[in-house]
Amino acid sequence: MKSTTASSDDDEGEQEQSPNIILHSLFILFFTGCYQSTGDTANMARHVSIDPGKTKPAVTSSPKKKKKTIYLTFDDGPNKGTRHVLQVLTEEQVPAGFFVVGEHVYGSRDQQATWDSLQQNKWVEIYNHSYTHALHNHFEKFYANDSIVVSDFQRCSDSLHLNNKLVRMPGRNTWRMSTVNATDIVKSKAASDSLYNEGFVVVGWDVEWRFNDSLKLKQTSDEMINEIDSVLLNNQTKTPDHVVLLTHDQLFKDSAEISLLQKFIRRIKSSDEYRIEFVSKYPGAVH
Ligand SMILES: [Zn+2]
Repeated sequence: MKSTTASSDDDEGEQEQSPNIILHSLFILFFTGCYQSTGDTANMARHVSIDPGKTKPAVTSSPKKKKKTIYLTFDDGPNKGTRHVLQVLTEEQVPAGFFVVGEHVYGSRDQQATWDSLQQNKWVEIYNHSYTHALHNHFEKFYANDSIVVSDFQRCSDSLHLNNKLVRMPGRNTWRMSTVNATDIVKSKAASDSLYNEGFVVVGWDVEWRFNDSLKLKQTSDEMINEIDSVLLNNQTKTPDHVVLLTHDQLFKDSAEISLLQKFIRRIKSSDEYRIEFVSKYPGAVH
């Protein structure tokens, strides 16, 4: 079976990490979760202000505080963690985006089956993470030639028949959309511009659920929530009140990590502060 790659997307490391844990467990999940629409509430809070020219107070209404939006994104699938992420999303009924690697779809029969499951799941949107994952993590070489970059993303799009133009550049936290233009590594600027000029919308991330050398999550679910609270409070996201979370399917291969993901999502769902959306709903995420 061909191995798949999980690479820290803000890391220059060119490590190839092969999963060595084969899961035998099947997850029998009952889809009893109830995802409540978290669209901006129309509830109005009533406030009273005094008009000095009148004796009676003037009663006005103002919108209740707007919810902040979290975008869950999973990179590098399909692989051995993808199916477990899908199960959590389906049980919790929350939307998420998968930035898939074209050749991972054809890596094995199991990955092809996972790909079919991704396509059929209504809580999923599928985006483009290149066909070869930057020539198998050879980032410098890949991004030095913008025509190679564009053709690799186009190959992924064509091969998988993707129905949108959202892409994420492997190993680069770069943004190209109508509302955000940001480049983390200047050597990749020309390639980023070329992607945008060819009609792609490039999406980076604001926070990452990181992993260690053993492919274990570095932050607990509570720490991840605190990090999200902090970047939003300190206006450190690309768009105020919107936060894109990056993590990787491959990290969710065993029950401990899957539980962390589920706990994280349940805490978001139970919060009045947040809602979860597809990246396609991000402000400016259309060309
Ligand atoms: Zn990646």
